Formats: sequence, C-alpha cells, structure tokens
Amino acid sequence: MKPFAYDLTYEMWMEWMKERNQPAFRAKQVMDWLYVKRVDSFREMTNLPKTLRETLEEHFQLAPLQIITRQVSKDGTVKFLFGLHDQHAIETVVMRHNYGISVCVTTQVGCRLGCTFCASTLGGLKRNLSSGEIVAQVMMAQKYLDQTNERVKSVVVMGSGEPFENYDATMRFVRTINDSHGLNIGQRHITVSTSGVVPNIYRFADENWQVGLAISLHAPNQELRKKLMPISRKYPLAELLEACWYYINETGRRLTFEYALIGGKNDQDEHAHELGQLLQGKNCLVNLIPVNYVPERNYTRTPREQIFEFKRILDSYHINTTIRREQGHDIDAACGQLRAKHNQSK
Ligand code: SF4
Repeated sequence: MKPFAYDLTYEMWMEWMKERNQPAFRAKQVMDWLYVKRVDSFREMTNLPKTLRETLEEHFQLAPLQIITRQVSKDGTVKFLFGLHDQHAIETVVMRHNYGISVCVTTQVGCRLGCTFCASTLGGLKRNLSSGEIVAQVMMAQKYLDQTNERVKSVVVMGSGEPFENYDATMRFVRTINDSHGLNIGQRHITVSTSGVVPNIYRFADENWQVGLAISLHAPNQELRKKLMPISRKYPLAELLEACWYYINETGRRLTFEYALIGGKNDQDEHAHELGQLLQGKNCLVNLIPVNYVPERNYTRTPREQIFEFKRILDSYHINTTIRREQGHDIDAACGQLRAKHNQSK
C-alpha cells in the first residue's frame, strides 16, 4: 500500500525532493498545497511540474479517511466517524469553546489498556494509526470548518487509543501540524494525554518543546487505580508520579491531571482529600470529568452537588481545579460510543 502524503513531515519532504534532484522549495510548495490550500488531488498542485505531480501520484495517496457519519450537537460539537482503508472506523470530535475550536484526535483503532470506564477498549486494540491518519483527522475537521471560515485553534490527543503506545507516529503528527509551512498550530495549543506509560513520559519531557501533557489519573491511590486502570499494575502510581514530577521540573510546564468522576467509585470526599494530599504544592491542574454513562459497564454519574464538593475540597489544598463542561450531550459523545455502535450494526 502506498503511504499517505500526510505521513511526511516538512523535513521528510525536503529529503524526498533532494533524492529526486528537485529544488528544496518544492517541499514548501507541497506543504502549502496540502495544508494551506488543502487540495484533494496532486493534479491541483499546478505550480509543480507535471512530471513531479505524476511521481507524487505514483508514490502517495491523499485521502486516508472517508466520512461514514457526522453527528452535529445542538451546542455545535461535531463528531465524525471515519472509515479507514482497511474497513476499520475511528472517531474524531470538533469542540467549540469560548477560546476557539479544538479537535480531539484518535491515535489507535481501539485500545488494549482496558480502563474500566472506557468504551474504546471494549473490542481490544486493532492497530496503530500512521501519523498521516492522525493528521488527516485534523485536516478533515479543518475542511469542514472551511465552509464557515472557521479555523482549528487547538488539538488534543485524547481520543481512542493510548498515544504513548503509538509514540513515534504521535510525535510525528505533532511535528507535522505544528510546522509553520503547514497548519502552523502552536505547540502550546497541542496537548497529548497518556494513561501513564511511564518510560514515554520521560521521553516526552526530554523532547524539549512546549506541547502540553495530560495524565489520566482517575484515582488517588494505587489500590483503586489498579481496579480502574489495569496499566497501573505495570506502572504503579508511585512510579507514575515520579515521572510526572520529572516532567514538571524539566519542562517548567504545568501538568494536567484528568480525573473522571465515577459515581460511588472514586468520587467521595475521602478520595478528594487523598488526591489533594498527593498533588499539593505541585505545578498542576486537575480537570474533573463527570463520566459519561457507559451502558456496558453499569457506571453511574456523580451527582452535581458531589462534583462541586469534590472541587471545593481540592480548592482547600490550593490545587487549580476545573470541571469539564459537558459537550455533545445529545450525540454519542463518549469516546468510543459511536464506533461501538457502528461495529455492532455491522
Ligand atoms: S481511557 Fe484511553 S488508555 Fe484507557 S482504555 Fe480508553 S482509550 Fe485506552
């Protein structure tokens, strides 16, 4: 199978052109056609010589994703279900915030990590996405937004899959969307999330860039975390936190901890106190996420008053805490739900 044009970074295009005795500026032109003019075929790249366009056509394909469905919520959230070349399907979500539009991308088809509150993992891992397949999600979102002259402002790598289990493709994806010859999305507007693949937190901290990191924590002690997130058996909470403090010290950046509140499981006052003691004094933010109902898991939602009480307790430890605004409530907004439905209907 031919690789996707989106799989290549600017540096790789430079190399590709050099190997074919093409001037270096051709790489810039290709980036411009792909990411700024956003064409759908090599034929449209009219300032390239015809022979070069034909060679590009021979070597690459341009459309990794086909739209299977698009759900639009009353609040403007858009959820895409995309089909891949091998019949698999993935989800991408476009969200509207008061600070701009963000896109949440997927890095794997399914996931093998088995977090108990997550629908994405129900069928296990099918395969990793290539960087081009991740880039294409942002491009499809941007092409949709082009119709209303809107622009993707930020990207969160928080969709299905564990980005740090597909580390190289995820890092190449970040480099591609950040490149000033292409989409030019600022590093500070990109956040990668991990459930705690400890060795790659160290690698990420050493990348020497301004890309944000979010840790899916979801429990304030090892015993509970092991139950909710099997990855904690391999990388216990103490090791995870050590890697987190390394990240904060090395990068000087604030770290985000995602905490999904699951009714009766991890949302009690004592959990909030334990979490407060764990994170007190660290340069971090806790993002509380009232968990979406996953029918297969029989989890209930945390009552509204308890969500605010949980936040109040964290506030008392001087921990910056936000409560994630719910979006796309009227569509299949929980990660993996739309794909699960699609797979069932197949
Ligand atoms: S929450 Fe993330 S890491 Fe955990 S199973 Fe779901 S997709 Fe995988």
